[in-house]
Amino acid sequence: MTRSDMPHINCPECGAENNPFANVCWICRRPLYEGDELVEAELIAPDDRPRQDRVGRIFGIWAFIFLIMGAIVVALGIYVEEPGALLPYFIVVSPLSVGIGVLILRGNQSENPWLRGIAMCFSAIIVSAGAMVLLGIATLIALIAFCFMVIAASGGF
Ligand SMILES: [Zn+2]
Repeated sequence: MTRSDMPHINCPECGAENNPFANVCWICRRPLYEGDELVEAELIAPDDRPRQDRVGRIFGIWAFIFLIMGAIVVALGIYVEEPGALLPYFIVVSPLSVGIGVLILRGNQSENPWLRGIAMCFSAIIVSAGAMVLLGIATLIALIAFCFMVIAASGGF
């Protein structure tokens, strides 16, 4: 029996006619489906597989973003220090980045638990490293701002 099978439901308390989709009587607020099979049906725990997949995918995407960002930052560093080393760096890093990126993005959704484990491992390492670098930069900026505030407050400028 589904709720749509019933055109109307009469409240057991006050007899008022209710919409079958209502959970409580619109007149007296009495729950209409208490102890009913319909309530039980709503309490079945949803399958957590799709959610897990989504978390894995978001994790993988972030790892991929950090990976690309890291590669670009290192490339800029090489360009400033030693422009000649940029080409060999790209020859080595580009396939490596693409390979790890594909492994992370595909592996997180793979049916193979080993591949998924390795992909999650890579993602965790890259996301942790990226988060640590971002945290370091944020701390540095906060420290510099704090120093300027202290200098300004003591009349240093
Ligand atoms: Zn009622």
